[in-house]
Amino acid sequence: MTSHDPDRYSRQTRFAPLGAEGQARLAAGRVAIVGCGALGSVAALALVRAGVGFVRLIDRDVPECSNLPRQVLFDEADVAAGLPKAVAAARHLLAINSAATIEPVVADLTAATATDLLGGVDAIVDGTDNFEARYLVNEHACRHGVPWVYGGAIGAEGRVLTIVPGRTACLRCLVPDPPAPGSLPTCDTAGILGPAALVVGAVEAAEAIKLLAGARDTLASRMLVCDLWENVWRTIDLSALATEGCPTCRGGDYPWLEGRLGGRPTALCGRDAVQVMPASQGIDLPGLAARLAGVASVKANPWIVRAAVEPGIELAVFADGRAIVSGTRDEARARGIVARYLGS
Ligand SMILES: [Zn+2]
Repeated sequence: MTSHDPDRYSRQTRFAPLGAEGQARLAAGRVAIVGCGALGSVAALALVRAGVGFVRLIDRDVPECSNLPRQVLFDEADVAAGLPKAVAAARHLLAINSAATIEPVVADLTAATATDLLGGVDAIVDGTDNFEARYLVNEHACRHGVPWVYGGAIGAEGRVLTIVPGRTACLRCLVPDPPAPGSLPTCDTAGILGPAALVVGAVEAAEAIKLLAGARDTLASRMLVCDLWENVWRTIDLSALATEGCPTCRGGDYPWLEGRLGGRPTALCGRDAVQVMPASQGIDLPGLAARLAGVASVKANPWIVRAAVEPGIELAVFADGRAIVSGTRDEARARGIVARYLGS
């Protein structure tokens, strides 16, 4: 079999609502997936297998053993190798479909990076675990008229909603203010069942396929809510919530994208870790690895330098200057460690 085997997509094109025309649109389609965790893994697998021509994978993190129950793109070898999730994911995806163009981006979605990272695509899929990233995606989507698919999973519950700027409610219409830190359960505090994430990622992929193929009946204005433990599946009509006075989708106000909101150190969902953003962009990773080697056990590759700087504490520094301090959820302590070893 080659990547251009004419039979490859025959079971999809035989599905009449997609057909050969829809398949051609998938091949020409461009999608950005924000986050390569559980939801992003499943969505990426489904979209690349379906023949979507271009997939950008945006992720700031590295795979950990505790990811493996639900992050289906990774295996034990990936955890041992310590490559960034986006890079490891791209390798697996190209082995599945060598005709796809996969663009791994090891970076954090911030006000400074959002326009570049989310640009030039036909649809955006949410695989994130935090509201700051979702508000950034929402504002970029509203500003540029790009549809995006919101997804969330916690415990055994999942939610999916497709947002089409100009036609449906946007995230800010539905959630005018971000929840206060610590006010909602997270996969850290409430846990998560793998199948709930797999369902959400799969539904998000189906929504993206429908958006690319031009299907009319998406989950726009209707949110899918499911609970795999209680066996509840329903959609909630949100069309009445589209707010005429929404500052973002109606008024062109983009506080997250313009850096007026957000940007604090963030405890990472599902991990005993804190991310600290750099004061300036870019860092000399080989130089840093050499300096840290004098005081700690260091592992380095072209994307990350990891150093066991203190008992139970690992400092991982990425090429864009971000640092993730593992072994603590204390933001002040994490900032102290970054200041001590990076001087920033
Ligand atoms: Zn809105």
